[in-house]
Amino acid sequence: MLKFENVTKMYKKGVKAVNDISLSVKEGEFIVFIGPSGCGKTTTMKMINRLIEPTEGKISINGENILDKDPVKLRREIGYVIQQIGLFPHMTIEENISLVPRLLKWSEADRKNRAAELLKLVHMDPSYLKRYPHELSGGQQQRIGVLRALAAEPPLILMDEPFGALDPITRDGLQEEFKKLQKSLGKTIVFVTHDMDEAIKLADRIVILKDGAIVQVGTPDEILREPANEFVEEFIGKDRLVQAKPNVQTVEQIMNANPITITADRPIKEAIQIMKHHRVDTLLVVDDSRVLKGYIDVEIIDHTFKKSTYVGDIIKSDIFKVKRDTLVRDTIHSILKRGIKNVPIINEKD
Ligand code: ADP
Ligand code: MG
Repeated sequence: MLKFENVTKMYKKGVKAVNDISLSVKEGEFIVFIGPSGCGKTTTMKMINRLIEPTEGKISINGENILDKDPVKLRREIGYVIQQIGLFPHMTIEENISLVPRLLKWSEADRKNRAAELLKLVHMDPSYLKRYPHELSGGQQQRIGVLRALAAEPPLILMDEPFGALDPITRDGLQEEFKKLQKSLGKTIVFVTHDMDEAIKLADRIVILKDGAIVQVGTPDEILREPANEFVEEFIGKDRLVQAKPNVQTVEQIMNANPITITADRPIKEAIQIMKHHRVDTLLVVDDSRVLKGYIDVEIIDHTFKKSTYVGDIIKSDIFKVKRDTLVRDTIHSILKRGIKNVPIINEKD
């Protein structure tokens, strides 16, 4: 739906704010651009919106170069949400939400219906429609900013750190609400953040930027499992947790899988490195260098899942988390201690 082909932006000669980006975004996809401050996130968004033009390369929407489109029309096809949401203070919430529908000459009845419908989507009382922005909390104002971008049903929505200025609790709430909303509306969204937790929570795919260039593109899971390099690892955060997922297999199956052997006194993070290096997902664990004690499947996930609604799923699927420094031996012991069934323990006689 949205395609970047070798897009570069230089504000000053020789300094590339965006450096040779190529990427295809599918319809209905939630793409998150992430990277440290100054890596070119906002510049990328402004180029999609045609607020600025690429120095080199091409951006197209549904196969049409955006530079061939009428800029005013283009901006109406795109919802744009930024951190400083900028609701108009002298307009009611209803009028703020109805800005684009009014430009598009919707009837008054249609505008009113749409504003009321949108407010319902975010569980706000219809009485807010008659209020002014200063009568709303920061979180509510930001919700209205998002609704304003959705009002005329643009197929593409750009969001540049939209929740960045909110307190963590409000932000968490809005993120969850927004993810649900996006799923139900099926819009294509390009979302910018510098917060990895937010990216993992929201993204179908994450695009990691450094100095204007793409370092890695992948699902949150892919990026957490296989960070492309040290920069990405650093960005994910060294204190991420590791989850161990017991899996039922027979001894025969394990042996057929060509497992790598590891001694139980190694930390789990080494086990992961070894598994990654050898591209295996099964480890045989050897205790006191002779007894086979069991094996583990190990995946890195984001620690923020811990307190979210995912907790239920995690417990249900017999997944739990251990710190990266936990020894392999202790990991297996804690699997057993929690009474999780189906952990294959290989007895000596096996
Ligand atoms: P981000 O949104 O990731 O923080 P930006 O896209 O705003 O990064 O900026 C990328 C780089 O381009 C930075 O080095 C920034 O200083 C530079 N830059 C941004 N806007 C301009 C501008 N209007 N003129 C010159 N340089 C700019
Ligand atoms: Mg920015």
